[in-house]
Amino acid sequence: MTTSPTPRNGSTWAWRKLRARVLAKSDVCHLCGRPGADEVDHVIPIARGGALLDEANCRPAHRSCNRRKGAKLYVPAPRSSRSSRSTSPTRSSTAKDVGPSRDW
Ligand SMILES: [Zn+2]
Repeated sequence: MTTSPTPRNGSTWAWRKLRARVLAKSDVCHLCGRPGADEVDHVIPIARGGALLDEANCRPAHRSCNRRKGAKLYVPAPRSSRSSRSTSPTRSSTAKDVGPSRDW
């Protein structure tokens, strides 16, 4: 079997060197604007013709920010912190009981 070890996202030595250089220059995430970036993101994705080893195409980014950006199907999770509507009484909700105050 010939499994060619072609790095897809570029885990080559050149890429690691470039990534280290980008992160050494700045660690401010270009997605959220906060420091502490631990990854390098491509401004123009490689899949869209962006240069992999071009420093001008590389920006520091958080891994989480990068993941969020890459995931197009970003579905905002329902916040369970606000519990203002969840105080529904289990007595007369969804129960079709003909209450006395029905005429309106
Ligand atoms: Zn970030």
